[in-house]
Amino acid sequence: MQQIAWQRELLRIALIVLLATAAGMSFDRPLLGAFVGLIVSQVLMLRRLNELFLWSNNQGPAPQDSGLVGYSADVIIRRERLLNKKLKRQKKQLKRIAEGIESLQDGILITNQAGFMTAFNRASCHLLGLRVDTDKGQHITNLLRAPSFVKYFKKGDYREVIEFKSPYRSNLIVQVQVTQFGVDQKVIIIRDVTERQRVEQMRQHFIADVSHELRTPLTVINGYLEMLVDADVNPGVMRAVRQMGEQSDRMKSLVNDLLHLSKLESNNAGIGSDWFEFQSLCAMGVDQLRGYIPKSLTGEKIPEANIECECASNIEILGFAEEINSVLTNLLTNAIKYGRKEGQAAQIKIGIHSSNKGLEISVADEGDGIAPNHLSRLTERFYRVDESRESTVGGSGLGLAIVRHALEHHDAQLKIESTLGEGSCFSFVIPAERIRIKGSD
Ligand code: ADP
Repeated sequence: MQQIAWQRELLRIALIVLLATAAGMSFDRPLLGAFVGLIVSQVLMLRRLNELFLWSNNQGPAPQDSGLVGYSADVIIRRERLLNKKLKRQKKQLKRIAEGIESLQDGILITNQAGFMTAFNRASCHLLGLRVDTDKGQHITNLLRAPSFVKYFKKGDYREVIEFKSPYRSNLIVQVQVTQFGVDQKVIIIRDVTERQRVEQMRQHFIADVSHELRTPLTVINGYLEMLVDADVNPGVMRAVRQMGEQSDRMKSLVNDLLHLSKLESNNAGIGSDWFEFQSLCAMGVDQLRGYIPKSLTGEKIPEANIECECASNIEILGFAEEINSVLTNLLTNAIKYGRKEGQAAQIKIGIHSSNKGLEISVADEGDGIAPNHLSRLTERFYRVDESRESTVGGSGLGLAIVRHALEHHDAQLKIESTLGEGSCFSFVIPAERIRIKGSD
């Protein structure tokens, strides 16, 4: 097709030049005739090109030409048709995606980088009480004012989700996750998690109730077992009584830990936090555990641990003294129980450093260490590295879960580093906003 257009174009020029040369010959000026023919053919070409230009700018009809200009017009028309078809298809797809987003149960909300809302679906309106006519263009924190959300949105670290009461209906709990979309937009996904929270609360209450109910019969059993230890019974029975005593002690500490954990889990809002002095709390915890020798169920004689600690003075923490005390005691008890080489005393160092990030507290030991594949699971409830080793010193498997929850209430996370054969280090940073020097308000 393109070749034919070329041939026609050349033929047209040749014909004009030939005619003009013939006319020139009749005046004995064939060369002048040919030159004039060339110029005429170029002028005609320019006219057609101008027609093409005007048409492509929507300023005139399509050029009627069988040469190169006509061919170009054809190509443009065909391309335009193709593009229109594609555009139609894409419009349809876009419409379907928009309908899909509209019909989602989860709320989808788009903001620009600064946080001004540019679009949201119907579910966002149901979950957050947004109104299409008035709320578009508003800043997200003007409508979602929950302090936890405002802090989360401004912080810009969106790796985790956040849950809070909907501003629309107080009995609705929503989970919100922000995702950076391109360089200048944020997509916010809002989910109704009321039912999940209700089930979770039921689970917490159930565990708390069962643990509470188990306490009374356990105390009675323990009392009788203590009486039997002093009684004059034959050695076989005595051994059984001792073992029953040990197991019932273990059960008691398990029940206490479960109760402690469910109490921690139910205090998500962090209500009632206060400034407390860290030095005395830390010193008290260390003193309490200095002489502590874990009971070995196998009868192994465990030497007393060496604990080194320089407690920073004058530092106050905003939070719950009881919870931070529980974190320190759990980490320290673990270091005493597991952070030693067989037959040797545990060597434990408590490090306390303050920096512009906050107060970093670490408990390090020189024990056998923990294999890397266990590290990420240690804070799960009842997770143990090695059942046989742990069974020699007891433990409920809830200690580190308690530590994790207590630290969450202080916006801190437990970091665990360990090298097999060299020891482990459990550390966390209480953020700077929760730290102050004593006396400075
Ligand atoms: P437990 O109440 O059984 O001590 P934790 O939740 O406190 O449970 O600890 C979970 C597991 O983590 C322990 O069973 C132990 O295997 C491991 N662990 C904790 N601290 C240390 C440590 N300092 N050194 C080696 N292993 C440890």
